[in-house]
Amino acid sequence: MFTGNQLSEIKKLLSPEKKVVIITHYNPDGDAIGSALGLKHFLNNMGVEPTVLVPNDFPKFLKWMPDAKKVVIAEYKRKTAGEAIYNADVIFCLDFNAHNRIGILGDWLMKSWAKKILIDHHQQPENFDFVYSDVTIPATCQMVYHFIEALGREDLVDQNVAECLYTGIMTDTGGFRFRSTSATTHRIVANLIEKGADPAMITSNTWDTNSVSRLHLLSLILGRIEIVKEGKVAILYLKRDELKEFGFEKGDTEGFVNYGLSIAGTKMAAFFMEDLYEDFIKISFRSKDDVDTNAFARAHFNGGGHINASGGKYFKSIYETIDDFKEKIEGEEF
Ligand code: 5GP
Ligand code: MN
Repeated sequence: MFTGNQLSEIKKLLSPEKKVVIITHYNPDGDAIGSALGLKHFLNNMGVEPTVLVPNDFPKFLKWMPDAKKVVIAEYKRKTAGEAIYNADVIFCLDFNAHNRIGILGDWLMKSWAKKILIDHHQQPENFDFVYSDVTIPATCQMVYHFIEALGREDLVDQNVAECLYTGIMTDTGGFRFRSTSATTHRIVANLIEKGADPAMITSNTWDTNSVSRLHLLSLILGRIEIVKEGKVAILYLKRDELKEFGFEKGDTEGFVNYGLSIAGTKMAAFFMEDLYEDFIKISFRSKDDVDTNAFARAHFNGGGHINASGGKYFKSIYETIDDFKEKIEGEEF
């Protein structure tokens, strides 16, 4: 958590006349949008009117969240996004650790004179004016709740705040089951339910919204899942023409990589996907126990993330990428 002095400085910065911006990462997920909107609603209740900015669009299954429609998507509204950063006094940076994780917003953020406050659970954060970084916490949404507690303002957690924070904790813990899910996580979730978050509504809006195209894509990749390294590594992939054929929409492949890890005996799963427009491969890694995908993604695939969940980018064809992956994975001990 921030130190006592930092908290008093931050409190001073959060007055109604200050221009506050909240930024989260490229390809925003449930924790990114949940933490950004949860903090926004909390600050609203303090009398502050922050602008939430994301570099690019986010999946439909997150658009039910209160005020999701007010999020400024920089790829569609460059000028509004640029001006918001230029005019900001304070910028909250949520759920990312480095400027290169926020696309076009990164350059603007680096040039801005605003006070930058980081709340994030990824490894090795870059420099910000105020840093609250903790890799043992499963979701940035949980950290936003701790921040609210540290400010002594849990009374300002209303139903909007609760719904947003609940969603991010639920998605980043894979439904309260990944390793860093703790008793504290569950206590906070219990508080959020008491404040008005409805688990059945949130689960159904976020997860029971599959399109037929998503299920067709899933059946395609499950049909050709490949197991290597004596059953310890599962490989899945999707090509651009397949994405087009099935009418892919953003978010359609969310969670696919986890099927690789659900196979008994696997320690790691990798999902490779050709980008729809540009010539690169987006990769998702997931692992069990102490197999460190963050170190692996950083070392070989221009990426990073958490120990058990990370991602990267690679600039070869999909088959060459998978071949390189197989070679690198043979060199790993697990
Ligand atoms: P996903 O596989 O869901 O895209 O990402 C899993 C985790 O890895 C997320 O926490 C995300 O922040 C991180 N991650 C994904 N792609 C990248 C990347 O290209 N670079 C870095 N540094 N982290 C990534
Ligand atoms: Mn997160």
